[in-house]
Amino acid sequence: MSTPAAATEPANLMEAVVSLAKRRGFVFPSSEIYGGLNGFFDYGPLGVELKKNIRDCWWNDMVRRRDDVVGIETSIIMHPKVWEASGHVAGFSDPLVDCKVSKNRYRADQLFWSPIVIDGTIHGYVSALENEKTTEELQAAAELFKRKKAIVGTLAPVQPKDFTEATADEVAKIPSPATGNPDLTPPRAFNMMFQTNVGAMTDASSVAYLRPETAQGMFVDFKNVVDTGRVKLPFGIAQTGKSFRNEITPRNFIFRSREFEQMEMEFFIHEDDDWAKWHRYWIDWCTGWLKSIGLPASHLSEYDHLKEKLAFYSKGTTDIMFKFPFGVQELWGIAARGNYDLGQHEKASGVPQAIFDETSKKKFVPHVIEPAVGLDRIFLATLCAGYAEEAVTDEKGNTEMRTVLRFSPRIAPVKVAILPLLKNKEVLTDRAKTLYKKLQRRYAVFYDEGGAIGRRYRRQDEIGTPWCVTIDFDTIEKPGDTFTLRERDSMAQRRVTEAELFALLEEQVY
Ligand code: ATP
Repeated sequence: MSTPAAATEPANLMEAVVSLAKRRGFVFPSSEIYGGLNGFFDYGPLGVELKKNIRDCWWNDMVRRRDDVVGIETSIIMHPKVWEASGHVAGFSDPLVDCKVSKNRYRADQLFWSPIVIDGTIHGYVSALENEKTTEELQAAAELFKRKKAIVGTLAPVQPKDFTEATADEVAKIPSPATGNPDLTPPRAFNMMFQTNVGAMTDASSVAYLRPETAQGMFVDFKNVVDTGRVKLPFGIAQTGKSFRNEITPRNFIFRSREFEQMEMEFFIHEDDDWAKWHRYWIDWCTGWLKSIGLPASHLSEYDHLKEKLAFYSKGTTDIMFKFPFGVQELWGIAARGNYDLGQHEKASGVPQAIFDETSKKKFVPHVIEPAVGLDRIFLATLCAGYAEEAVTDEKGNTEMRTVLRFSPRIAPVKVAILPLLKNKEVLTDRAKTLYKKLQRRYAVFYDEGGAIGRRYRRQDEIGTPWCVTIDFDTIEKPGDTFTLRERDSMAQRRVTEAELFALLEEQVY
């Protein structure tokens, strides 16, 4: 039996993940034969299973297994007034900077710069795009500047600021990352909503938007759910679905794309209820859920948004952060939004959104806690956290490398691979196919009879299949009808019966 040694992380984990995702059919660039379309992706046969499993786990835990959350599905294109009332038409924008010469576009808050200060005097400016090494890049550029210009004196450490913090005078002097010359425009607000027209007319009266978030669906349908759903405060309305944002700089693979899927829930509470208690409850719930689908606690942290940067109606926002290979980034935002959203829709539509609470005998517009997460981001997090390369030594002492995705059985795209030991022995393949067909009724399973058994194990390791079942001669010849069950992470093998295999799956795949 082979044994795994300590896992090593590849030098460039992100590159390794993207390459595996393409090679094994998890994620492809959209419209690849036409050169792709920046910010859009397709999910391949394994990717679509992984994505569905993550979505189903969320739905089951968030909606079906709770008594206080119901689900809905609202349309992607909604009445344009929705986005006026929500503030998106006026304010859903990122600060955009153009390079007048290269025509490149940057998000001002992702474009960093610093003055080059030598012996207390500013001699020029350097710029760099945000990444994990922005400060080092700025420092190196400042040192290069000093060397090239042969300026004598002590160079002060760079002080990175983002481009939104530049004065008009500084904007005129900061070099464009594309040209090295001061070719940048001042930042301006760029609205990220995709526009379209509904119906045969393409004038201002027919303008509509692809939704930039799913949340407004829950607010706009609030009354419908209350009037039909027998819900009582506190309760939540959840939905999953596509959202669209015309991101200025889509990047980091599927982390920031222009079309993505969200899983959002609006949890409505009494106006007198303790919002901080519910906020904390949902942060903990979301963290626990991420762990339940296999994300390690070591990669998760919390970030509280600064009070002074919050929208005026917001009581508090905490992001659950994930340690991606390109830095610690937002995975899940949990916002306490007061009753701003329902209040806005009440004002704009003229339809009262207040409800009468039987317990307190009060009429009011409920407050809300909103946990909002991107499905594609969780997908990427599971790939990054699960990816490992390991040296494996077999019983003869030979060592080889294996790539393994340590997916939780809950989300693994294939739960079990069924492997007859030999392809040309009908007694083995018949038994294997019977088991395969039986498992297939409940689980995503894979039948593979091609190649040496070790190679078949490796192929499953690489796509994160938690268990392989081998049908061998002992299955046929010895009493008990047992198979070899091989576990992905430990590579340990033991014999199990069909009933034991089903019991294992019942316990671990939920
Ligand atoms: P960011 O600051 O990263 O742009 P945000 O704070 O604007 O995100 P929200 O509006 O709170 O994001 O959206 C909720 C969740 O949707 C985010 O936590 C993230 O997981 C996901 N999300 C947002 N924008 C994108 C995107 N462009 N691509 C993929 N997922 C996204």
